[in-house]
Amino acid sequence: MQEKWLVGVDLGGTTIKLAFISVYGEILHKWEIPTNISEKGKYITVDIAKAIDEKLQELGEQKSKLAGLGMGAPGPVHMATGLIYEAINLGWKDYPLKDLLEVETGLPVVVDNDANIAAIGEMWKGAGEGAKDIVCVTLGTGVGGGVIANGEVVHGVSGAGGEIGHITVLPEGGAPCNCGKTGCLETVASATGIVRLATEALQNSKEEGELRNRWNEAGTVTAKDVFDAARNGDAFAQSILDRVAFYLGLTIANFSNALNPEKVVIGGGVSKAGDVLLQPVQKYFEKYAFPRVAKSTKLAIATLGNDAGVIGGAWLVKTKIAKL
Ligand SMILES: [Zn+2]
Repeated sequence: MQEKWLVGVDLGGTTIKLAFISVYGEILHKWEIPTNISEKGKYITVDIAKAIDEKLQELGEQKSKLAGLGMGAPGPVHMATGLIYEAINLGWKDYPLKDLLEVETGLPVVVDNDANIAAIGEMWKGAGEGAKDIVCVTLGTGVGGGVIANGEVVHGVSGAGGEIGHITVLPEGGAPCNCGKTGCLETVASATGIVRLATEALQNSKEEGELRNRWNEAGTVTAKDVFDAARNGDAFAQSILDRVAFYLGLTIANFSNALNPEKVVIGGGVSKAGDVLLQPVQKYFEKYAFPRVAKSTKLAIATLGNDAGVIGGAWLVKTKIAKL
């Protein structure tokens, strides 16, 4: 079985990432196809099956080379059946993803939530470095979360375990969130949330500096502009970053008090800011964590980038299907 390949698939709202991965977690071939969301996403599973067949043909390999397919989908998953309860961006509701993919590809399939498979990827080959108790917080256009306890993803009773982005950080007066609540972590720590905080701060103050100049030039600022200006010593940008770090550090401390994970891995596009983000988050984490948790739970920036999902998918094949 050692020479078999694992198929990792990471389904996003605009692209589908696919990879053939060795049983040791090495990416052998990876590529992307666009996500066709027309007609409530009904073409997605066929597109994935075709993409795999075309790649096998290109490489001169047979379907028997593949041990199975592990996939992340943007929504909560019923693990026993591989049903996606809802993926708003794709138009899916109670969608039998696992069954359809098995029919189209002829491969055994295991599916999980996209933030969860990214967490698994980081556990296996990334910043988790094999730790079996880790929590991943993914800071992108939204905020995703994945909780892994003793090597297994915590799904909860209805597939909504690990929704760290929707932990309430502003009980009163918070901004509306996509989930229907207000004041979620996602509203202040996603790229979108950081831009909103920065825009409000710029509109409500006259403070000069690099971020203000950027705003005057472009008429808008990005989360990256905030981090870049903060790194260059702009006190105004640093004050915005400090607020973001406060909400993140507080949230991480609170869930870490419940879980005491070995690692908390911060990933997603926003995490590319690196130390300028991690250091203040670490400061607030230490302030609000139970002392024994503050000493033993380590914070780290994710290392796999966009590959975390496909590697996590491959891990699911290896551990749930192939039993290699
Ligand atoms: Zn929310």
